[in-house]
Order: sequence, then structure tokens, then C-alpha cells
Amino acid sequence: MRHFFQSFGGFFEHLRRARKPLMRAFVLLLLAFVAACATTEPSAARHRSKRVEVPAPKPNPADIAFANFVHDFRTTALNVGITPDTYDRAMSGISRNARVQQLNEDQPEFTHPVWDYLDGAVSPWRVSKGQEMMASTGTTLANIEQHYGVPKEVLVAIWGIESAYGTAMGGFNMFEALATLAYDGPRQDYARKELLAALKMMQQEKFSPSQMTASWAGAFGNTQFVPSSFLDHAVDGDGDGKRDLWNSPADALASSAKLLSEAGWKRGAGWGTEIKLPDNFAYETADVDLQKTLSEWHKLGVKTIFGAELPDSADLGSIYLPAGAHGPAFLVLDNFRVVLKYNNAASYALAVCYLANRLRGNAEIATAWPRYEQPLSKDQRFQFQNDLKKLGYDPGAIDGVIGHGVRAAARKYQKDHALAADGFVTQDLLARMDAEIRAKGL
Ligand code: CA
Repeated sequence: MRHFFQSFGGFFEHLRRARKPLMRAFVLLLLAFVAACATTEPSAARHRSKRVEVPAPKPNPADIAFANFVHDFRTTALNVGITPDTYDRAMSGISRNARVQQLNEDQPEFTHPVWDYLDGAVSPWRVSKGQEMMASTGTTLANIEQHYGVPKEVLVAIWGIESAYGTAMGGFNMFEALATLAYDGPRQDYARKELLAALKMMQQEKFSPSQMTASWAGAFGNTQFVPSSFLDHAVDGDGDGKRDLWNSPADALASSAKLLSEAGWKRGAGWGTEIKLPDNFAYETADVDLQKTLSEWHKLGVKTIFGAELPDSADLGSIYLPAGAHGPAFLVLDNFRVVLKYNNAASYALAVCYLANRLRGNAEIATAWPRYEQPLSKDQRFQFQNDLKKLGYDPGAIDGVIGHGVRAAARKYQKDHALAADGFVTQDLLARMDAEIRAKGL
């Protein structure tokens, strides 16, 4: 390109010398034209100057490997009944999505405390907008509730939390997002299964690939189903003969109701309630995975937050402390566990159930959250796991993720040290373990 401009050096000289404004304008215009030709038509420029060479871009080895994966996965897809036409239309032109890749690998510096998550998930906007949506979809919702036995408030709460009532459904190309996750990283198995389901969904429903938008993790539509859930549970809620979870809230809400119903939702039963624990409560029994009958909890002195006795019932319930012994406590029943089948995080199930309560006009959670607790940084989460290990407890893999194994190990440590064994990870607990390790010279 340098040589090209050199050959027009005379014009620059001419411009410098041009004293008449009109002449200068003419020369400038001519130069602008030449520059435009040079930038928009490189082949024309090359034609005029054979010494200019534009090297072909070097193929990136990672792109080649991804293209090979897409090529090889075609055989897998065809083996399970995907037609070549479906596969090629869905997968042609996709590339490894850098943003999806980043979201797949990122470990956050700080994880949000549960109260921050609930502040967002059950915000005043979500409550008022949800009530508006319930009013506007009244008859449809009533029919869905009647048919599947799942309360309309629970369905609308899922809609609100999953996609902010259809306003945030995710704008990634579903095939590109799932193929990126399927290619490598921690979600490969999940994504390969969902990619096949997405192809099947496109083929069955005759969707065009361009309309199949999703979140980075492959969830889509008003209630953020994954493709395999669509194949298993989706229904036509508005009776137009199509199952369209993107454009029909009725289809999405009916499909969610069917999923929850098939997961065991008990018609007419609640999800649970906020409770008050007795002073001598054995905190190691507060575990979503540990069930006792309501009669047993009653005998242990557990009461509703308003001080009422629990019923003498053989129904099973667990005690869930989202923020440990110093935050709100909930008795959660079978229907709460059903919501976990939608998304297996207790904080998510609580958000859905709590928003459903608020949509009914029920009060906010009465007990204050321990908002003074500062979340552990990424380094501190690793340190917490290492400390447990040094002190003889088994936190599982040292990966900086506070999961079930870490909480169980923390409970054992707390119990051995006569602390409330709630398994809640705090700065104080970390400092205490650090001090013990220093004192013992470990
Ligand atoms: Ca429909």
C-alpha cells in the first residue's frame, strides 16, 4: 500500500503548491477518490501496482479444530435421526463464540450473597409487573392452573425470574452457543445432549435456525426451557397448533405447568413457610436434603414465623437456612423440591416460591438478612477449602466453588468446635480456621 501512495506523490506536491482554493479543492477531491478506490477496491489497486501483496489470513488452529468438531458431530447427529438438511442448515456458518467461551470458563471474583440475588429476583418491579401480567393473561392462566394443578402465581413467578416476563430471553444463536459449550470445557456432556435435542426440536417443529435464540447456556424462550425439556414437556397452550415458547407466553406457561406437574407438584399443597427455630435447635439438621415429618419438627420446637404450632402431620419437610443461623429460616415441603427439578439451586426455588407469595399479596420475608456478612473472594474460597483439608476435613476438590461438599465439611468443623453447625461460609469462620492452623503450625 505504501508503494501505491508513493506513485501518487506528485499530487501531494501539487497540493502543497496549489495556491488557488478552487484548485486545492479539486486536488483534494481527486485524492479522496483515489484513497477510496485504494481502501474499497484493493484488487484494483493491486492491478495497478503488482508489487503490493495482501497475504491471506492464517487459519487459526483453534478455529480448524472447532470446524472439525462440527464436521464430526454431524455423524453423531445423523445417527440419531437428524437429517443432513437439518444439520447443515443449523450448523453452517456458526463459529466458536468467544463470549460463550468466556462465560463458560469464568469463575467470578465474588459470588453474590443470597440476599442480593433475592433483592433482584423478587424486586418491586417483578412483583408489580407480575401482577400486571397475571391480570392480562387471566383466563389462559386460570385454565392452565385448573388443568395442571400448579398455582398461577408459581408459573408467573417462573416467567418473571427466567426472562423478566419475556423481555430477556437471550440473544445467542442456540446452535452456536451449544456447539461452543459442547466443543470443550466443563459443560461438554450437557451441551452435546442439548445440541442433539435442539436439532431434533428444529426438525420436528420446522423452526428456522435464525429464530432459535437462547441464553449463552442454551436455555430459551419465555420460561427458559432447555431443548431436552422442550422435547419432554412442551405443549401448545394457546391452541394454534404450534409449540412456540418464544412468541407465545401461553405455550411457555402451560409447558412449565406440565413440567412441574410431571415432576410431582401436589395440587392444593403449598411449598412451605418462614419459620422460627427454638434456641436449642440442632443446626446440623437444617439441610434441604434432610426430611422429617411436620410432627417431628413440631416436637423439636419449630414454629411458624408468627409463633403458630406446626400441624401434627406425616407430610415431610426440610429446614432451609439460605444465610445460616443468623438469617431467615424456612420449612420447605415437597412442592419446593419440585421447583428444584426446574433448576437445582435452593436459592432459585426460594426466589420462585417467595415471588409467588408476593404476587398473591403476601408479606415480605420477616427476618432480616445478615447483610453485614462480606462474601469470600475467589482466593479466600480456595483458602477456605485448603484450611478444611489441613484441619482434617474433606471439602472435595479444591476448586474455589462453595458447594455441597464444602458446606458439609464446614458443618463438621463447626460441630466439633461447638459452633452452630449451619455450614454457612463466612469471613469469621475462615479467620477462625486460619488462626487454628497458625496456632498448630500446620
Ligand atoms: Ca401455540
